[in-house]
Amino acid sequence: MSLTFKFALGFSACAIAAPVFAEEVNLYSYRQPELLKPLTDAFTAETGIDVNVAYLKKGMIERLQAEGARSPADLVFTVDISRLNAIMEAGFTQPATSETLTANVPAAYHDPDGHWWGLTTRARIIYASKERVADGEVTTYEDLADPKWKGRICTRSGTHAYNVALASGVLHHNGVEATTAWLEGVKANLARKPQGNDRAQVKAIWAGECDVAIGNTYYMGKMLADEEQKAWADSVNVVFPTFKDGGTHVNISGVAMTKSSPNPENALKMMDFLASPKAQEIYAKANYEYPIAPGTKADPLVEGWGSFEADDVNLMDLARLRKDAIKLIETVDFDG
Ligand code: FE
Repeated sequence: MSLTFKFALGFSACAIAAPVFAEEVNLYSYRQPELLKPLTDAFTAETGIDVNVAYLKKGMIERLQAEGARSPADLVFTVDISRLNAIMEAGFTQPATSETLTANVPAAYHDPDGHWWGLTTRARIIYASKERVADGEVTTYEDLADPKWKGRICTRSGTHAYNVALASGVLHHNGVEATTAWLEGVKANLARKPQGNDRAQVKAIWAGECDVAIGNTYYMGKMLADEEQKAWADSVNVVFPTFKDGGTHVNISGVAMTKSSPNPENALKMMDFLASPKAQEIYAKANYEYPIAPGTKADPLVEGWGSFEADDVNLMDLARLRKDAIKLIETVDFDG
């Protein structure tokens, strides 16, 4: 019996059709199976609740829309504040909170009403050529607009969610005029038109096409774990820039309870579990991210890249600036 069909029936009908009504929770995720499996297994071992995961490549909002109130989804799990915020703004989440969640997720990383909760962070950093960039030569995001980097910067598209969130951070700290000038300055410094993913930029440094690149921290771990890409990673230093008057830009992976959750109690148990220090550390290690609960630590490999102070902006504020940031990125024709 398909999930959709089962939930389309009332509880009593289910009870007749299946006398042993297994406890379960249904998760829609954009994350890869190998990242989630250790967590869902540990959750089931601890609680006896089965976890059904639908791994989606795209179209989560469209799917929730099509399923409406009959959606089997209890939880959505994804990365990037813009995606979590979009699902919330589309009306597909409900507030959920607990002592465990508030104790383990700092205020900057969850919706004040509990519509979404961050679980781990990733920093957006600068990869700098070991050969061609001296220590201390780049320390702020604002530095990237300095003409001394002319022809030396590589990045993926300015309109990718990761770069939109970063530009939203610049906008939050420096305002519209300075952000426009920053985007123009960075564009003028590009070694090539924005293209490829974050790892492709590090490859370009390795190949001598550019000297600094913008990318997320966890790609360092992924490159080091890949036979071909290890050389790319070995050609760069990890630099944690800050905003001139702030910290290092971070984004999150996070979870939200759906508005139509058929198993809200189990869903909340799963959220509590995901936010627990133990689960945060398992998940952070699997994807080279940073756990956020007080007292938790990143994996030693990740810690080895250096420490940083995360910017203290509430991610909700960055989500609100997203549309304005996209407008500026398009106005300067960043990718053109
Ligand atoms: Fe990524």
